[in-house]
Amino acid sequence: MNIKKELVRIGKELADKGFVVGPGGNTSVRVDNTVYMKVSGACFEDTKESDYIAVNLKTGKNINDNRKPTCEIQMHLACYYTRKDISAVIHTHPPYSIAYAMQGKTLKAFTPDFVGIISSNVPTIKFAVPSSKNIANKVSEVIKNHNAILMANHGLLTVGSNLKEAYYRTLYVESACKTVVASKILGKMNFFSEKIYMQMDTLEAEVYRRKLIKSS
Ligand SMILES: [Zn+2]
Repeated sequence: MNIKKELVRIGKELADKGFVVGPGGNTSVRVDNTVYMKVSGACFEDTKESDYIAVNLKTGKNINDNRKPTCEIQMHLACYYTRKDISAVIHTHPPYSIAYAMQGKTLKAFTPDFVGIISSNVPTIKFAVPSSKNIANKVSEVIKNHNAILMANHGLLTVGSNLKEAYYRTLYVESACKTVVASKILGKMNFFSEKIYMQMDTLEAEVYRRKLIKSS
């Protein structure tokens, strides 16, 4: 797979869906000790393969390139340092996710798809100044046990074993936040109990679907 080509394609989709505006948001893919990410200031709607650069995972320094990587590089590297199974990170600013994050609550699972795709509840972390060490530390702590994080007054971060998995998680969290808003307008919102969550989590069909996404 051409990694930069895939990063360009997913970036355009994120922009088309209104999950980012202008130079906001960033994506990355890790291959062994190299992380591919967008240069600082590039807008997803018109990025080209040449707007993605390779960075050394351990040092965070560019490989053969003088351009600055995305300012959120520390947050991406923190995910890769924390979990070896993470090979892709997507950070976006989707409106419903931001609205939900403003409530400061954990988004709990409430459909089989939620459990199957996200494979965890989605906690909200307090606002921290973007690109600060503080935000990277918070992300690193929460990502240990979760595959998506809502960021108060900021956005959403998802991880995956590949870009497709992280992308599906981004799509699903935003869609779940929309459902919560609609349910509250209609009157009632039901989240899964711990017992139902566990039943869904071990359902044969979900285990199979996850395996397919991971191997794609
Ligand atoms: Zn951001």
